[in-house]
Amino acid sequence: MSRLAPAESGDTIAAISTPIGEGGIGIVRVTGPEAIAIVDRVFHSGSGQPLSESDSHRLHLGQIRVAGRNLDEALVSVMRAPHTYTREDVVEINCHGGIVAVRAILDALLSEGARLAERGEFTKRAFLNGRLSLDQAKAVLDIVRAKTPLGLEAAVDRLGGRFSQAIAELRHSLAAILADLEVQIDFPDVDAEPEAVAGRVTDLGAHVAELLARAEGGRIVREGLTVAIVGRPNVGKSTLLNALLAEARAIVTPIPGTTRDTIEEETSIGGVPVRLIDTAGLREPRDPVEAEGVLKTEAAVDRADLVLLVLDSSEPMSDEDRILLDRPWETPYLCVLSKSDLPRQLEPLSEETAQLSVAAIDGVGIAELRTRLSDLLLGGKLPVRGSVLLLDHWERDLLRRVKAGLDAASTALSAGQTPDIVGEELRATYQTAGELQGIDVAESILDAVFSRFCVGK
Ligand code: GDP
Repeated sequence: MSRLAPAESGDTIAAISTPIGEGGIGIVRVTGPEAIAIVDRVFHSGSGQPLSESDSHRLHLGQIRVAGRNLDEALVSVMRAPHTYTREDVVEINCHGGIVAVRAILDALLSEGARLAERGEFTKRAFLNGRLSLDQAKAVLDIVRAKTPLGLEAAVDRLGGRFSQAIAELRHSLAAILADLEVQIDFPDVDAEPEAVAGRVTDLGAHVAELLARAEGGRIVREGLTVAIVGRPNVGKSTLLNALLAEARAIVTPIPGTTRDTIEEETSIGGVPVRLIDTAGLREPRDPVEAEGVLKTEAAVDRADLVLLVLDSSEPMSDEDRILLDRPWETPYLCVLSKSDLPRQLEPLSEETAQLSVAAIDGVGIAELRTRLSDLLLGGKLPVRGSVLLLDHWERDLLRRVKAGLDAASTALSAGQTPDIVGEELRATYQTAGELQGIDVAESILDAVFSRFCVGK
């Protein structure tokens, strides 16, 4: 249950830590009490010195040899506990990349007694052995998965433990308030100052509100935003998608209605991952395939944070365009007037309609479009460098509960409730904040967290 529970020690685990496939090097990682002994049984150092006699944090060049046959030349690092990622002995075998060599080495270690690591088990051990807080362990996952430089920066920041520290300070302040309330309960005659306590609770509430606001920036950085590109066939949606991606992915063709399915691509705008969905259009379907496409478009529009409504500026407005324009959009939209390199035939749109001209084929107007997208999507809530807090769904929920608990305590205080009632509220809040620190976290939650990692991390 608690983070101080011993790791499932006694066993030594091994896994391939580099991506499977051809590469310059491959790394097989081993951790556990038998790590050094197990590798010693297959590794023959050029110097003849066994790893068990090696100093910590040293590299050794030699051969991985099984049944008298050399599998690969390898550079092996020995890192002795406790100054390692898992706080156990760790050995890393750097061999030649390529699926066969790494697999063969892993197999050799498994037959010498190591067990194949589960997903995230190295990081889980780092957590269970007190090397990382749960928050930091999750940061490791965020680093691996970061999609933009801003996301990476926030993850590295998280790994530094700033959030854990903020929560530790919060609990510390709560404990101090609880102690003062205890005194008031035990010695009701002592001059109590409920206003002073109320002020401190309000300050904590404001601090948590700020953390929640920063977590909203983190949600955007981590989960990203979605933009649906909508318009009748042939107005230039795929060309626009390609221009925004600056790489040709969607098939551009002059036959109307070929992009019947939705195509999704990811780019980054203002440091935030943005999913662009090129839709099939929203016109009256003429056959079942098209009907399917329209349904998918509707779904894409529903989950989009913004719609780019593309109108071909080189043609007069068609009924289909009109229907789209007049649609009661629930999602904010921006009209993109495409093909601005051709003579304009499209009648002017109302001035209130947010609009922008582009010639996607030449990339004209695309930079402006990106800026507009950034303003529309992130205006006011643009994650600011250094202020982003990466929290997962579970942590945001706990933080909201901490805020609600503080609010309830504030209300109880201003209603003149007794110190024990206020104390009860704050004690529950103290415990919730503890869950955020990874104290007394249920095994099922740990499993859920670490199963999101890859094997070997
Ligand atoms: P979609 O059906 O809406 O995805 O439209 P496409 O992107 O497939 O484009 C339809 C046609 O319009 C293609 O022949 C494109 O080359 C052409 N097109 C797209 N954008 C532009 C543009 O900016 N200028 C010009 N002149 N033609 C374009």
